[in-house]
Amino acid sequence: MPSGARVFFENGKPHKRNIKKELKKQQERQKEKYDKIQRKLRKQFGLGVNTKNTVENHPQHKLLEQIDLNEDNINKTLNKYEKLIKNDKIENAIIITKEGKVYQCFGNKTNVWPDYDLKDELRGAVVTHNHVSTETNYGFSKSDTRLFKEYQLSRLRGIDDKYTYELNSNKGPVLNIPEDYQFKEYGYEHLMSIQYAIDNNIYYMRWNNEWRRKKWNKCTLYKIC
Ligand SMILES: [Zn+2]
Repeated sequence: MPSGARVFFENGKPHKRNIKKELKKQQERQKEKYDKIQRKLRKQFGLGVNTKNTVENHPQHKLLEQIDLNEDNINKTLNKYEKLIKNDKIENAIIITKEGKVYQCFGNKTNVWPDYDLKDELRGAVVTHNHVSTETNYGFSKSDTRLFKEYQLSRLRGIDDKYTYELNSNKGPVLNIPEDYQFKEYGYEHLMSIQYAIDNNIYYMRWNNEWRRKKWNKCTLYKIC
């Protein structure tokens, strides 16, 4: 009998208590591994603490890594850094350029300036950023959509303590035009983004952060997020 199996059996019969114990141990080991990676990332990453940053006076943007550009890598990179920035006290932008360079830009409580930091390198990039929980309106601001348009971003994502939202210029719209009453119900910025996506024939979606672990393909305007 392989040694791992011994835990689950007693006198040749499955032993529930041992299974539970073993599962708990496995979960703890996984959590430890996960925490270790998170700690290491946090250290490398240096989340901003200075909420007084201004556009003229804020820390220099930082090259985090270089990745091979494919959809899987891009999504993994977005998810990895979004976990780290989503609860920060200042806005951070993570930019994946067309050359596969991954940068972090530092903002303040209400702004971050990847255009100022990266200039033309920002064109056509994939960008994500966080909205600080005390400031967020759970959607893209006007300056977010302006940035998206002006720099012809491939994708723009935002994350806060509740939601993740995305504009994607490589895909078509998936939502219907909101009715007037829904503007009140779902938040102005969210619905403006839906309108923007439809007007510009691009993709927009917002989903609850909790859904990340679940399948969220049922997410529609009417089963909102
Ligand atoms: Zn924003």
